[in-house]
Amino acid sequence: MSIRVGVFGAGGRMGATVCKAVAADPDLELVAAVDPGHDGLAARTVIGVKEATVDVAGSPSAMTQAEVDVAIDFTDPDAARHNITFCSANGIHAVVGTSGFTEDDHDSIREQFTRSNCLIAPNFAIGAVLMMRFAEIAAPFFETAEIIECHHNHKVDAPSGTAVSTAERMAAASSTWAADPTESETIPGGRGARGPANLPIHSVRMAGMVAHQEVVLGTTGQSLVIRHDTTDRSSFMPGVMLAAKRIADLPGLTIGLEPILDL
Ligand code: NAP
Repeated sequence: MSIRVGVFGAGGRMGATVCKAVAADPDLELVAAVDPGHDGLAARTVIGVKEATVDVAGSPSAMTQAEVDVAIDFTDPDAARHNITFCSANGIHAVVGTSGFTEDDHDSIREQFTRSNCLIAPNFAIGAVLMMRFAEIAAPFFETAEIIECHHNHKVDAPSGTAVSTAERMAAASSTWAADPTESETIPGGRGARGPANLPIHSVRMAGMVAHQEVVLGTTGQSLVIRHDTTDRSSFMPGVMLAAKRIADLPGLTIGLEPILDL
């Protein structure tokens, strides 16, 4: 029997791509699409998928009406907090790609999910998940590291959730980072934002980009660059579809795709 899926943010760049991927997956069925900006429009018009027979709804109640098993959210942090609470209150599993959550958000979401499960992944591209893992493995062997993330010119938050998550994991993997030699910034912010362990994160926002990240590590006489490039939003879909199929078996809150990739 197929898994009944609803998509929050169905009219957005990621949400529309998710709707297409769900409609094309024989194990999943697209039964609800929610996006207040497209309320009442046929999903096939908004998303461009002729197989999508649902209309886009303006309210989360479309998820319960359609008896959704798994809701997928790609919206913005405020909308996603609301949608996630709706899912937990109604026993719907939630797969969340929206970025911008804090540790406090995670704690609150962890408490909420007692009847159903939630997975939040800062990056659903499997190559990016591997990049983060490789950076974590490399961290103890280098005393300096910086992260450079590049995204399209419509991304409203910075640094990206992936960059912050990478810094958190590298900071947890090593406690021997060298002090920054910079004594003054000629222009404030010249050394980037500071993540965990004071690791610098540099955010680029640019037309022509999708999502890219480089982790640069250095030690005496050598440097290592770990780079991942997303050139199309379809790169995220295998991870999102996998999460939708596995979420029922992951109790409570799961952060990241790692547990379902056995990493
Ligand atoms: P987007 O194109 O702006 O799409 C967001 C959509 O959500 C818009 O259509 C928006 O409608 C809609 N929306 C707003 N409030 C809503 C609500 N309460 N219920 C349902 N829909 C609502 O943004 P995007 O590029 O798709 O990115 C969405 C999020 O995914 C961002 O946080 C981004 O950083 C993240 N992201 C994550 C990954 C990952 O792998 N985890 C990958 C890519 C992007 P209006 O335009 O009418 O407000």
